[in-house]
Amino acid sequence: MGILESLKTLLFGKRDVSGEKQDEKPGSAKAEKPADVIIEEKASIIKEPKEEKPVADKITVGHVHMSGCTGCLVSFADTYEGLLTILDKYADLVYCLTLADVRHIPEMDVALVEGSVCINDHLSVEEIIETRKNAKIVVALGGCACYGNITRFCRGGQMNQPQHEGFLPIGDLIDVDVYIPGCAPTPQQIRNVCVMAYLLLKGNDEQKALAGAYLTPFMNLAKAGTEACGCDIMTQVINQGLCMGCGSCAAACPVRAISMEYGKPQIERDLCIKCGACYAQCPRSFFSFDVVNQYEGIMDAIDAAMQP
Ligand code: SF4
Ligand code: SF4
Repeated sequence: MGILESLKTLLFGKRDVSGEKQDEKPGSAKAEKPADVIIEEKASIIKEPKEEKPVADKITVGHVHMSGCTGCLVSFADTYEGLLTILDKYADLVYCLTLADVRHIPEMDVALVEGSVCINDHLSVEEIIETRKNAKIVVALGGCACYGNITRFCRGGQMNQPQHEGFLPIGDLIDVDVYIPGCAPTPQQIRNVCVMAYLLLKGNDEQKALAGAYLTPFMNLAKAGTEACGCDIMTQVINQGLCMGCGSCAAACPVRAISMEYGKPQIERDLCIKCGACYAQCPRSFFSFDVVNQYEGIMDAIDAAMQP
C-alpha cells in the first residue's frame, strides 16, 4: 500500500474516497457511514449543548471616558472571569471607546463614567450632558468622576492646550445616581455594583430589595457632595468620636498619605490626592446597618450570580 493509500485508510477507514469499498465487514454500521456524515455528526455534538440566554434579559452598560486615566476600566477588567460572566449573563457593553468601535453615546441602562470633566473643552461638556440624557443610571466610577481626585490640582498652562485649566467632578455638571469612589476602585466593588444594578432592574421583588439596600449607601454618597479629602476622616470620623483605630483608611490610601500613630490615623495633607478612598473604606463612615445586617445575603446573591 502506497503512502497516499495508507493516509486515506487512516482518515477514512477501509472506505476509499472514490466510494469503492475495500475489505469492509458486511453489516458493520460504522463502515457504512461516509466520512462527511461522521464529521457532521461530530460537529453537531460540539455545537449542541450551549443554551443561549435571551439578550432581552440583559441590561445595557456603557463606559464613558472623560478626563481619566483608564485605570478604573482596567480595575473592572481585573475581575477576570467576573467580567466575562457579567458580559455573558447580565450586561451588553454597548459603548466603550477603549474596547469597541461605537463612536456616539447610545441609550443605555447604566453609564459607568470615568474621569472628571474639563470645562474648557466643549466636547467633554457636551458628552457628559449627553450621557445623562441617554442613561437611566449614571455611576461615577472612581475618584476623578466622584471628587475630581488628582485633576483638582490642574492649573492649565501646559502645551498644547494651556487654556485647559478647570476640571470638575461629573456631579458638578449633571445629577449622578451612584458613586464608586477609589483610585482605582476595587474590582470587587465595581463587580458588586454591576450585579446589584442588574438585580435592581431585572430581579424579582426580593432581589430588588436586596439590591436597593446594597446600593443605597452609594446613592447617598452621590448626594453628599463632590469634594473629598483625607480631612474627611478627621472631621467626620475621628472628631465625632467614631474612630476605632482599625487602619482601613491607611490601607486604602493609594499614596500612603495616612499612617497610624498611637492607634489613630495621621494624614499627610501634602501627599493627599483627594480621591475619597479613605472615607469610603472606613467602616465608621457612610455604610449603613441595612447593608451590614444583610451582609451574608448580599454576598450569597453575588456569589450565586457570579457562577459561570
Ligand atoms: S488621604 Fe489618601 S485615601 Fe484619603 S483622600 Fe487623600 S489620597 Fe485619598
Ligand atoms: S478606617 Fe475609620 S475607623 Fe478605621 S482607623 Fe481609619 S478613620 Fe478610624
